[in-house]
Amino acid sequence: MTMANYESPWKTEDARIFQRTVRSFVETELAPQLAEPSGQPRPDADTRNSGFWTAATWAKAGEAGLLLPDVPDQYGGAGGTFAHEAVVIEELSRAGAHIGFGIQSIVAHYILSYGTEAQKQRWLPRMASGELVGAIGMTEPDAGSDLHAIRTTARKDGEHYLINGAKTFISNGANANLVCLVARTAPDGPPARALSMVMLETEGLAGYRVGRPLHKIGRHDQDTCELFFDGVRTPVGFLLGAGEGRALFQIMDQLRYERLSIGLSAVASAEHAVELTTQHAKERKIFGKPLLDLQNTRFRLAECKTEAHIGRVFIDNCIEQFISGRLDAVTAAMAKYWLTDCECRIIDQCVQLHGGYGYMQEFPIARMWVDSRVQRIYAGSNEVMKEIVGSAL
Ligand SMILES: Cc1cc2nc3c(=O)[nH]c(=O)nc-3n(C[C@H](O)[C@H](O)[C@H](O)COP(=O)(O)OP(=O)(O)OC[C@H]3O[C@@H](n4cnc5c(N)ncnc54)[C@H](O)[C@@H]3O)c2cc1C
Repeated sequence: MTMANYESPWKTEDARIFQRTVRSFVETELAPQLAEPSGQPRPDADTRNSGFWTAATWAKAGEAGLLLPDVPDQYGGAGGTFAHEAVVIEELSRAGAHIGFGIQSIVAHYILSYGTEAQKQRWLPRMASGELVGAIGMTEPDAGSDLHAIRTTARKDGEHYLINGAKTFISNGANANLVCLVARTAPDGPPARALSMVMLETEGLAGYRVGRPLHKIGRHDQDTCELFFDGVRTPVGFLLGAGEGRALFQIMDQLRYERLSIGLSAVASAEHAVELTTQHAKERKIFGKPLLDLQNTRFRLAECKTEAHIGRVFIDNCIEQFISGRLDAVTAAMAKYWLTDCECRIIDQCVQLHGGYGYMQEFPIARMWVDSRVQRIYAGSNEVMKEIVGSAL
């Protein structure tokens, strides 16, 4: 097999057919909105709050089968594997659409892995239809990489947890009506046993408040907010897992899924950047010839194409390992840091090859440049990833 006809080994015929459905949905439902001058998240009458994407978009995505593609059908999912999730990630990345379907899947997998049967039945089918939009609330103003510093508390009070605190940088924050919250259930004791995950159904929930949309430098279509909890009550039956104090173990296990997803989105964006730039270099005339005729252009694009292909082969291997239940946390950390660093390097080079046009917002490569930067920061920063890899040596 040559590089030109390389095909991802995990992409089954079924996944290919699904990919066509996803592409068509993205082209008809998402891309037209992205083409509008984005600015910052705008208030929208149709949404629960102030996210860019509306509740109607989420419902349509559910109807088209894009939500929870790798969750068993007995819980309303499509009953596929990570291959099906992967094609959604690839198509969203290609289009530069940052609607939080990935976060939806991450929350669903916490429920699937640690929820009781009643919890799965209660939440997963409505997440698959888009009626419930999930968010995951870990980060706080003073607790990002250092989760031990989390201060939001969930104290048992009769049949409820009483929750006080605040979260920041929460994706899907405005649209979410189901929040998977990491909170301190033990005021003292070893930090590793002090944190738990509790679910909140936020519609009409007293004491719950969504803050202003955060003004990010990129990803203006991504809904990112602060969340505030002031004496919020959630039933003790909404704890995730067989007991309190298990959040750190649950997070460490589930982050493999999130980091794999980010690694894949990084590769898909990098590949798309190379395609766009190759096209530009063929069309752009310089000194009377196509830009691609300059040896420097060919060398730079050759480097980008090669790195993107190395990334593709690596992520495909990780995906195959994940589908067969063998992807370990260290390899997932390698994938997250190396592939997102690689994505940013490639896109930066592609901006350079576009010249001044690479700095203009109407050129997709410019938006990709700002949008990609956060990939090295969230889901565990790339420095934290290197700590994980380094400490396993
Ligand atoms: C757009 C966006 C969306 C997000 N979505 C979510 C979400 O949905 N839910 C959620 O809970 N959080 C979310 N986050 C938060 C994100 O996960 C954190 O920003 C990230 O974990 C880093 O934490 P911090 O911002 O507090 O930085 P800090 O932890 O303060 O890190 C500052 C610097 O220190 C470095 N550093 C940290 N630890 C080490 C170490 N051990 N060794 C060396 N260097 C280190 C970091 O790499 C970084 O360079 C999101 C963030 C953004 C920007």
